[in-house]
Amino acid sequence: MERKKKRIAILGSTGSIGTQALQVIAEHPDLFEAEVLTANNRVDLLVAQARQFQPNAVVIANESKYPELREALADQPIKVYSGSDALCQVVESQEVDVVLTALVGFAGLLPTIHAIRARKLIALANKETLVVAGELVTQLAQTFRAPILPVDSEHSAIFQCLAGEGNNRIDKILLTASGGPFRTFTKEQLRDVTPEQALRHPNWDMGAKITIDSATMMNKGFEVIEARWLFGVKPEQIEVLVHPQSIVHSAVQFCDGAVKAQLGVPDMRLPIQYALTYPDRMSLSGERIDLFGLGQLTFERPDRDKFPCLELAFEALRRGGNAACVMNRANEVMNLAFRQGRIGYNDIFRNIERTMDRVPFEAAPTFETYIATDAEAQRVAEDLI
Ligand code: NDP
Ligand code: MG
Repeated sequence: MERKKKRIAILGSTGSIGTQALQVIAEHPDLFEAEVLTANNRVDLLVAQARQFQPNAVVIANESKYPELREALADQPIKVYSGSDALCQVVESQEVDVVLTALVGFAGLLPTIHAIRARKLIALANKETLVVAGELVTQLAQTFRAPILPVDSEHSAIFQCLAGEGNNRIDKILLTASGGPFRTFTKEQLRDVTPEQALRHPNWDMGAKITIDSATMMNKGFEVIEARWLFGVKPEQIEVLVHPQSIVHSAVQFCDGAVKAQLGVPDMRLPIQYALTYPDRMSLSGERIDLFGLGQLTFERPDRDKFPCLELAFEALRRGGNAACVMNRANEVMNLAFRQGRIGYNDIFRNIERTMDRVPFEAAPTFETYIATDAEAQRVAEDLI
């Protein structure tokens, strides 16, 4: 019997995850179809992608780029939209089966909620959605029976370890971290690091924002929160291990002491593809892991003193309510300010912590509370710069 192609909306198709998702689609034209592609600013790349993949629609979030995009695709039978409202509408289309959330930051929250309400399968790369509103989003996903499948490599690894385990009890999640470019730096050396240094990740080639988050290890903090909501574990059941080789993508320890891990070369196309084909595995080109050539796999405890953002994320999780939402926006503001050379590396943590102290705590946030909290955190954080 001929298999029906999965029709995929990629939110953020011009980014690191988005372009790799299109490579996966190109490798399996019999399985997948790009139904919707979206970007924020990069019109030229979006146009090239649209010409190659012939989606039904494209969206440019930045409305000022709309005339340029429309003009460039005038000879194509492709619908062209702009604005963040359009992102929320396209994911609801009947022609879409899967929504891959590969846009960056808080901007991912609203379109993801729309996709959940429209009962789409969510392939979730945009971890900020779960950092900001993990409780609300996972509850909605249950109510609307919209599966959320992880794309983040660690969470995909955990998800792969859990396949076939039914209700077997998890003791611990062993969340691995590369340690980023500053793993071996002293606190003194960290004081003067530049954005250029922070943007040179040892193992992964990713978008700028997440690369900086990896340097501060805020990314790992986000992933702790993401794991808490995706897998329903308590914060104290999540252990972070620094594993500089990035070969063990994460592991799960079960109630009988058995540990299952998923290993592979660092290549995001695998977790992207697994989220699109689950529960099946499909062939994928690329390098294979060579255990003989690897030499050693090492694991160390994270240095919480040197990487206080990690501790802050655990703290946000313990506080609950809107705490992680505040942390997320403060981090977005400081991450960008650091890349622009407006603040130093150590200011990132300091200003996030201050923002968290200043924005009022809400124990039981609704969707509206998150929107208001995000705006207030933005205001407070900008004021600190
Ligand atoms: P990139 O910065 O490379 O790409 C971001 C994409 O989102 C681009 O298409 C960009 O458009 C678009 N975009 C940016 N801002 C907005 C906005 N305000 N509204 C709508 N679209 C927007 O990011 P990554 O691909 O690295 O990361 C995407 C998400 O996946 C992040 O949440 C990240 O944490 C997560 N992730 C990424 C991994 C990776 O390996 N890169 C690994 C694990 C998770 P334009 O190109 O026009 O600017
Ligand atoms: Mg990750």
